[in-house]
Formats: sequence, C-alpha cells, structure tokens
Amino acid sequence: MVLADRVSKSFGANKVLRSISLSVDAGEVLCIVGPSGSGKSTFLRCINHLERVDAGRLSVEGQLVGYREKGGRLYELKPKEAAFQRREIGMVFQRFNLFPHLTAVENIIQAPMRVKRMSKAKATARAMELMERVGLGDKGDYYPAHLSGGQQQRVAIARALAMDPKLMLFDEPTSALDPELVGEVLDVMKGLAKSGMTMIVVTHEMGFAREVADSLVFMDGGVVVESGDPRQVLTAPQHGRTKAFLSKVL
Ligand code: ATP
Ligand code: MG
Repeated sequence: MVLADRVSKSFGANKVLRSISLSVDAGEVLCIVGPSGSGKSTFLRCINHLERVDAGRLSVEGQLVGYREKGGRLYELKPKEAAFQRREIGMVFQRFNLFPHLTAVENIIQAPMRVKRMSKAKATARAMELMERVGLGDKGDYYPAHLSGGQQQRVAIARALAMDPKLMLFDEPTSALDPELVGEVLDVMKGLAKSGMTMIVVTHEMGFAREVADSLVFMDGGVVVESGDPRQVLTAPQHGRTKAFLSKVL
C-alpha cells in the first residue's frame, strides 16, 4: 500500500531523511517513533507530497507520489494534480486545526462539499455518522472552543475520514493533549485500525504501538535504525540508539 524506496530529503545542508526504505501493507498499522528532529514529520509530509523528496521514490497503492513517470523520466505533478492525489490520504496533526468559526459538523462537511461536490444534505448525514463513530454523536453543533482537546482531535479524525481516505497519517495526535484526554483519542484510532484502515502513526505512546501496530520503526538522524514487530523492538531492541531512546520514554 505504501512503499518508500531510499527516500532522501534535505533542507539546505541539513540532511533530514537519509535513504528511508519501508513498506506498509493494506490494512496495516505502522508506528514511527524517534527523538525530536529525527525526520518523522518530514517523512509523513513527503507521503502526501507536502514536501518534495530529493531522491528515492514513494508510492501509495502503486501510484508514485507527486510525480508521473513518462519514458523513464519523472515529471512533478501540477499543484492541482497533487491535490487530487492527496484527497485519498487523511492527515491528523498534533494541533487539531479545526476552523474555529464552524461547528464540528460544518468542519467535517467542508472538504466533501467543496472537493467532492457532495450535496450538503448528504455530507451532513455522513458527518453525523462519523461523529457517532468517534463517540461524539451529540456534539455536532458544538464549536471547537466548546469542545475539549480530546473531542476536537476526534472531530479532526472524523473530518479526515469524511474524504474516505485509503490511508491515514497521524503526526503525534495526542502529544498536545492533557494526559486524561489521550485515551479517548487512542481508542478512536484503535477502532479505526480494527476496521482495517491502513495507518502510519508517529507517536510517543508506546502502549498504543505495542498493542495496535503491526510494525514499529525507530528513526534517528534521518535513518531507520531498527524496525520490526513492536513487541520485539520494544522489549529487545538490537541497537544502542534504540535502547537509549526507549530507556528515556518507557
Ligand atoms: P519532532 O519529534 O520534534 O516533531 P521530527 O522527528 O518530526 O521531530 P522533523 O520535524 O521532521 O522532525 O524535522 C527534522 C529536521 O528537519 C529538523 O532539523 C528540522 O529543523 C528540519 N526541518 C523540518 N521542516 C523544515 C523546513 N520546512 N525547513 C527547514 N528545515 C526543516
Ligand atoms: Mg514532528
């Protein structure tokens, strides 16, 4: 489903991704952990072409991300084409990024109406279903300011799901939350994983990774230091850098 083949990316002289290769099968959950600055967010942003890779290839469902291949050469997609490709990929960030002047349901229906030309009635019905799914069936008319951080993040997940993505990317979705609100968001993500969604999750929640991830990648300094079964990596890390990192977060 997702294939990264020797992906590299620099910002000026700063080599942020150094030949990252990994794959995620359909229906699988990959968790990425690693210290601050290791390139986790940059990698996620490359997967939906919010950042351009310098070398290597990324593909989602066999489709090259951000480029078209013709006669053995690569041509970058036009912004509109890249946006079209991105519709299939949902992304949830650390900060909830809801529109503050719109209610939860209004937040959710924007993209389906504008991008997919869905009717308001249809988009609203679907939004209510999704609100139900994230455990907020009675909060559709609430404005973000009147929702807790955990509730806002669940609306953000519902909003991403409204586009029927085939892949969901999460970038530390619970790191901005008060500890007591983390669980409700992780529960929604667990449900999503159980329903067969393909997910890549950057997180510091090792319990979630152990329980939900099919594979775990430890990144440091822009490289994949270690990867494999999460229980294996978490309980018997092979590399000194993984051990040092885990001893700090576990
Ligand atoms: P954190 O855990 O703190 O979120 P991260 O693993 O997500 O860290 P990235 O945000 O991917 O790390 O950043 C990796 C490196 O790339 C950092 O050195 C950062 O300063 C740099 N970087 C990220 N985005 C940009 C940008 N748009 N321009 C220049 N440098 C950038
Ligand atoms: Mg980050």
